[in-house]
This record gives sequence, C-alpha cells and structure tokens, in this order.
Amino acid sequence: MTEPADRRLLLVHAHPDDESINNGATMAKYASEGAHVALVTCTLGEEGEVIPPELAHLAPDREGTLGAHRIGELTAAMKELGVTDHRFLGGPGRFHDSGMMGLATNDRPDAFWAADVDEAAALLVAVIRELRPQVLITYDPHGGYGHPDHIQAHRVAMRAAELAAEPAFRRDLGAPHTVAKVYWNRLPRSVVTERFAVLRSGALDTLPFDEAAEPGDVPGLVDDAVITAEIDGRTAASAKAAAMAAHATQVTVEGPWFALSNGKAQPLFDIEYYELARGNPGAPDGERETDLFAGVPGTVTKL
Ligand SMILES: [Zn+2]
Repeated sequence: MTEPADRRLLLVHAHPDDESINNGATMAKYASEGAHVALVTCTLGEEGEVIPPELAHLAPDREGTLGAHRIGELTAAMKELGVTDHRFLGGPGRFHDSGMMGLATNDRPDAFWAADVDEAAALLVAVIRELRPQVLITYDPHGGYGHPDHIQAHRVAMRAAELAAEPAFRRDLGAPHTVAKVYWNRLPRSVVTERFAVLRSGALDTLPFDEAAEPGDVPGLVDDAVITAEIDGRTAASAKAAAMAAHATQVTVEGPWFALSNGKAQPLFDIEYYELARGNPGAPDGERETDLFAGVPGTVTKL
C-alpha cells in the first residue's frame, strides 16, 4: 500500500494539446514536487487540422485517423511533463471532437457538444470520487475562446464538482468528495500585451512564422484584476515546450514562441495564470496566490 499523495490536482480539458498549452508548466511543476497530477481529456481531437504535410493523410477528410494518432501525442506529452495519470472521459473515443462552432460536426450524435451535461458529468464524478483532488482546473464559461468542446468541458467539470460532493448522487460512484478549489485558466492582459510587443518589435523576424497572432486570439484573456493565482513554472519551461512540441500535428514550438495550425506566432507562457472560481483564497486580499493548494487543509506547501 502506498499513501495517496497529499496534494492532488485534476485537470479537465477538451482536446489533447490544450493541457500542455494552458497548464504544461503547472502540471510539470506539481508532478516534480510529488503531487498527484491527473488529466482528463474529453475528446481525441479528431477534427483538428494537421500541420506537418507528411501527416496530412490523418485528417478527418482523408483517413480520419487523427484521433488515434493524437492519443500517442498526448502520451508523449505526458511523459515530458512527468504526468502518469491521464484518461479520456468515458474512455478513448466516447465523445467525438465537435469541431469549431457552427460546423456540421457539432450535430453528430457522439459530438461532445451534443452530450447531456449530467451524463458526461457522472463519468467525471467517478474520477473525482476515486482521486479526491483538492484542486480542479478547467476553462472559464466561454471555454477560453468559444470552442464548443471547451465550453462543454467547463460545464461538465463544474457540474461534476457539484455532483461529486452531493451524498445522494450515484452512491455507486464512490463516497462524496468536495473539491476545495476550482480554477479557471486565464491570462492577464498586461502580460499578453507585453509579450506581443516583443514579438512585433523584432522577435518575429527570427522565427519561422510569417505573421503574429493578435492578443485577442489568446484564450482566457482578462483584465489583470481578474487573476487570483500565478504559478511560476519557469523551472518547468523546457518540459512545457517539449510537451507542446509532442503535439506535432497541432503545435509548432520555436523557443519561447509557438504557432497553431494557422501559422501565427504567439507567446509560450511559463508563468501560468488562474482565476479562483470556487473555494477560499489562500492569499490575503489583493495578493495573488503562488500555490494552487494554498490554504487547503491537510496539504503542505513545498518550497
Ligand atoms: Zn482544444
């Protein structure tokens, strides 16, 4: 018998690659400190665009095997982050990538967007009651940038946190568990603006990308005052970059910059930012938390 890690972190994401882009530094940092870090990914990302020409045959309009390939990419990324517990909601392929908002793929019967929120949440309740995380990370209500699967991942994660704590709900799924803190992925406007200014004032010329994205393209962009926690993942920066690069069909990494399939350069953040959506803040009023477990009873902050 091994004791469960005293700090347990659960992340809920829509597609393989979202975890590394949004939380790669946070995940690697906590994993390296001995916390139990678990990832639940809701779809295989079957509808993604494919960057490398030599892998174009995987695309949904050709062989349609991108989902299986992305399981391998995610596995490689988790190895880079030192995360050993990664699962797909309901098992791999249970929910299909819904594609961008408004596309016909939104209406597939197996699309995650078409899933009943309570039914999908019950699958996550089983994971929450098994792992008993003190901290849950997911997207804000807009899914960061409006992708249906990101919005749905938010809804399912928030509902599951609620239902997991409800003693009368599905007792067959395990003993009730209250997640102490729920965080949403965010990025502060000042930091994003500053990094894009660097990109535009010369850095772009040194990169293999033709153009820069806009600050408004960055998911979860908010006024600085909305941010309640910042996790300094600079010691995990190379692990984050390697994890992102492992998602080679989706991401091209170049130093502290990267591009998605649109080829537009954007900053890679090794300090990651959050908004506490549920639970008690572990920092005094007006100060940002520097540890997501701050103030959680029974956990010890490792310095
Ligand atoms: Zn995504």
